[in-house]
Amino acid sequence: MPTLVMKFGGTSVATLDRIRRAAKRVGVEVAKGYDVIVIVSAMAGKTNELVGWVGETSPFYDAREYDAVVSSGENVTAGLMALILQEMDVPARSWQGWQVPLKTNSAHSQARIEEIPTENINTKFAEGMKVAVVAGFQGISPEGRITTLGRGGSDTTAVAFAAAFDAERCDIYTDVDGVYTTDPRVSPKARKLEKIAFEEMLELASLGAKVLQTRSVELAMRYGVKLRVLSSFEENDETAGTLVCAEEDIMESNVVSGIAFSRDESKMTLISVKDKPGIAAAIFGPLSDAGVNVDMIIQNIAEEGLTDMTFSCPTDQVKRAEKALNGAKEAGVLEFEELVADTEVAKVSAVGIGMRSQSGVAAKMFKTLSDEGINIKVIATSEIKISVLIDRKYMELAVQALHDAFELEKA
Ligand code: ADP
Ligand code: ASP
Ligand code: MG
Repeated sequence: MPTLVMKFGGTSVATLDRIRRAAKRVGVEVAKGYDVIVIVSAMAGKTNELVGWVGETSPFYDAREYDAVVSSGENVTAGLMALILQEMDVPARSWQGWQVPLKTNSAHSQARIEEIPTENINTKFAEGMKVAVVAGFQGISPEGRITTLGRGGSDTTAVAFAAAFDAERCDIYTDVDGVYTTDPRVSPKARKLEKIAFEEMLELASLGAKVLQTRSVELAMRYGVKLRVLSSFEENDETAGTLVCAEEDIMESNVVSGIAFSRDESKMTLISVKDKPGIAAAIFGPLSDAGVNVDMIIQNIAEEGLTDMTFSCPTDQVKRAEKALNGAKEAGVLEFEELVADTEVAKVSAVGIGMRSQSGVAAKMFKTLSDEGINIKVIATSEIKISVLIDRKYMELAVQALHDAFELEKA
């Protein structure tokens, strides 16, 4: 039998009624002759609640217990989905990550998938089971502890299953009907894309578009998984949603395909560091050891042998960064006058594979922001993206102005 993977996100399984609606979609695919692997998220809001409870116990919680708690939301939906399918006379069984077993490394709360053996589930398919309902987001470490794959990780579970079971397609059912030129909740002019290249989706996701977890796009690209994003609330036909595919499969690519943004960025500046060889290593070594994900970096021109060094990182890592840098100062391995954190910034990025062959995109982006009176604090570019750090209060304005400037509402 051909295999299909269908993933339902939190809002798509938020209530029993919605799980019933999702189960009906699964039933339709079973009737077409597919063996279906359904990946479910926790009910909407559940994971946030669980994360909040863990945080209330202590700011220095044990990551293994964090995973034990926050993985539990998915267990509930997996069981309920299997029960509802059984009520519909569809032979279904639920699987928690460890039962599959979905094997990961030991990086608790951010674990990476290492292997998905297919025997257990395939044996059940051979015995007549039509649907395996798998709890997304979770796995088991080599030590036998429950792990989770990072927020939004059910997308990655889904793609990994599609690769392991050589599924015909991986359908990601969510609360929007596809991937848009920007978050449709921020810009009403956002346009749904029929197709998007893996590379572009990878950049959009890593720059803040949470419609797919970054790692899921990486996996789909590596294993050539046919990945589709579509609505769990609307009627869908064969061409519904957005197909994430190889660049060659897109006839005409735009210079800019999408605008992504990330609200929870912070900018940190070390004032008056010595401008000498080894200074960058002395700053970013301790930050890396502390697990701070440094994103953009700028070093000012030195005056009298002293310079300022600025970098950005996620806001929830600012305290950790301060601790690491002040620690290095106290240990005498780093000298600076002051450390200033600006936690009111956001990152806005333009992404498009067409940028490779077209110049002037950066200039247009900067001009557009300047016309709106928005000051750019930091800039970073790569082959197919340009990112800027700006005051957070201008984020929505910047997204909309750039969407207009690059005429993204037009196909
Ligand atoms: P799920 O719970 O189904 O995993 P998510 O909330 O994780 O859903 O992802 C879907 C959300 O992603 C949408 O509701 C939308 O607000 C947001 N989003 C951000 N950027 C985009 C984009 N470019 N296209 C579509 N949705 C986007
Ligand atoms: N429930 C998890 C989260 O909210 C995983 C997911 O939904 O993808 O992050
Ligand atoms: Mg998600």
